Amino acid sequence: MFPGASIRLFKVFGISIEINISWVIIFALVALALTNSYFPTVFPGHSGFVYLLLGMSTTILFFTSIVLHELSHSYVAVKNGIYIKRITLFIFGGVSEMGGEPPTANIELKMALAGPGMSFVLAFVFGFIAFGLNRAGINGLLAGPFSYLSIINGFLGIFNLLPGFPLDGGRVLRALVWMKTKSLHRSTEIAARSGEGLAAIFVVFGFFLILRGYALNGLWIILIGWFLGQAAVSSLQQMKISEALSDIPVGEIMSREIKKVPADLFVSNLVHDYFLVSKIGRLFVEKNGEIVGLVTLSDAGRVASDKWTQTFVESIMQPVDMIDKVQVSSSAVSATNKIASGVPQLIVYDDNGKIVGILTKTDIIRLLQIRDKLGI
Ligand code: ZN
Repeated sequence: MFPGASIRLFKVFGISIEINISWVIIFALVALALTNSYFPTVFPGHSGFVYLLLGMSTTILFFTSIVLHELSHSYVAVKNGIYIKRITLFIFGGVSEMGGEPPTANIELKMALAGPGMSFVLAFVFGFIAFGLNRAGINGLLAGPFSYLSIINGFLGIFNLLPGFPLDGGRVLRALVWMKTKSLHRSTEIAARSGEGLAAIFVVFGFFLILRGYALNGLWIILIGWFLGQAAVSSLQQMKISEALSDIPVGEIMSREIKKVPADLFVSNLVHDYFLVSKIGRLFVEKNGEIVGLVTLSDAGRVASDKWTQTFVESIMQPVDMIDKVQVSSSAVSATNKIASGVPQLIVYDDNGKIVGILTKTDIIRLLQIRDKLGI
């Protein structure tokens, strides 16, 4: 769903906490800004080491605050029986990946409010600590990080409550419209449109700032707006796809054609006699009458072309046990979610464990295009 790789940090309540590569950059930028500019300006006259210590500990507490925000959403979700796969921290916050849509408007509302609620609690707690340290007359250097964290958490709470889907505020809006209209479809549409509107405001405001000479802040706000707009559009699409596929089993959308090549075929023959002729980029590999693997264009592409006449298909194929599987009678929605999360193909089995087809992104896109043309 998000560009770039993610790194898993740890697991809490069975939810894996991951950071997107974009977050590493933000982490570094925040640490750098705090160490090199914020703390030296607010508390001048200390050594670089002191600023580094302050900068790093503040950044880590900032990071922890975002994880706590996301975990609050997840906690309410898990308590209401919703499965959360993972939390990914990305460019300006985090995203909890749910197994599906929340079952009721009420649960959606509670889940959406839990995150900003936590941010406000943290803002209060950090603010209270800073206030206490200041009142006790302890060196302002110690209170500094806490007042910074108080402000940043307050800001996070407010930003996330902006009423555009998929921000928390957009989810609140969706839940409220959902309560009123009783339609998840209608409410998602309204909340996503509001997200697009919000995104447009960000972009316009960003350009305004650039024109006024605040280029960096302007670019930053344009980036947030662009990201928000993309997220709004893709959440709406995701919902439409889930709706279109809700009652359909995998068997109805998979490719039933099982084209096979022998395991002892040379890659040169595979390319010239099969890939180029059939224009199918994926073929099953057969050995002693049994399907043992799958070979794709990219598997062939990894072999230098001057080695094609000496390399057997068997040595470049993906063994069948290594490929993700799905039952022919299972719901197309979960299979689609798997493919959307980056699994290139799913091998489809029947109840007797026999391979009956394959499901790829192309199958899903084709089906959606056909449905779209027919207006169903
Ligand atoms: Zn949130």
